[in-house]
Amino acid sequence: MCTVCGCSGDDSKIDTGHPHDHANDHGHAHAAADGHGHHHDHAHDGDVLDYGAGPARAHAPGLSQARMVEIERGILSKNDGFAATNRARLKQAGVLALNMLAGPGAGKTTLLVETLRRLGQQVQAAVIEGDQQTSNDAERIRATGAPAIQVNTGKGCHLDAHMVGHAMAHLPLVAGSLLFIENVGNLVCPAAFDLGEHLRVTLLSVTEGEDKPLKYPDIFQNADLVVLTKTDLLPHLDVDIALLEANVARVAPTARILHVSTRSGAGMEAWIDWLRTRRSTLLADLAAAAEAHAAALRAAE
Ligand code: MG
Repeated sequence: MCTVCGCSGDDSKIDTGHPHDHANDHGHAHAAADGHGHHHDHAHDGDVLDYGAGPARAHAPGLSQARMVEIERGILSKNDGFAATNRARLKQAGVLALNMLAGPGAGKTTLLVETLRRLGQQVQAAVIEGDQQTSNDAERIRATGAPAIQVNTGKGCHLDAHMVGHAMAHLPLVAGSLLFIENVGNLVCPAAFDLGEHLRVTLLSVTEGEDKPLKYPDIFQNADLVVLTKTDLLPHLDVDIALLEANVARVAPTARILHVSTRSGAGMEAWIDWLRTRRSTLLADLAAAAEAHAAALRAAE
């Protein structure tokens, strides 16, 4: 994950002194210095150099696998603490939070804008927009009348729970409302970071090709819902939609799949229904928990 690109925090850019580990039991890992004086920590399998086969599932020059695992655990445990705080605040507020994940250009903001229009006054919603730079997307959201806060991550390639906690403080967390968190456009790093959300929605536009779930499985694996977007373009593409769905199902067998075109409106109703159902389920769960708590208090009296 982001030990590779060094975007995960101050302590991610460190330490070049550790001995290299190698990697693993798939294929065989090299320990010998090569002609450039480097050590190898990848696996060979025919024509594939697999840098993801070791315990860290990644490679960074100068960092051992063990050190990378240690850094990742440190970053993610801090993140998990902030995520737990966010989750508790959302529960207390009675807000359903959705982490929206996709590569750049899959149509996350466009889907949100259309969603907010359709929800209208019936269901309130707020949006956290994650991008490396610009406030373009938050402005597009605010134009619908919904509150939005932009988080610019600079060189960072994902939102983390700490950023989201700060952003939540700038938004109205109204009971029964939805909080959409549009992550930075990236099919890789955002997958590793729990933001405290209730649900993960991964978008993939049909223009991106059938094989993306297999190439970038992490972003699909924990998705509650996979939305295949821009389906109005299918007649103009060679993409095999049945194969794309089968590939999603291979990496995310329990995820529901929806086909949506914001342009034609196809699938929008099913998406809005899914949102409404999940919101109702959360509110019913919270009401049941509150009733159980009250009953426990009465019993203790
Ligand atoms: Mg966007």
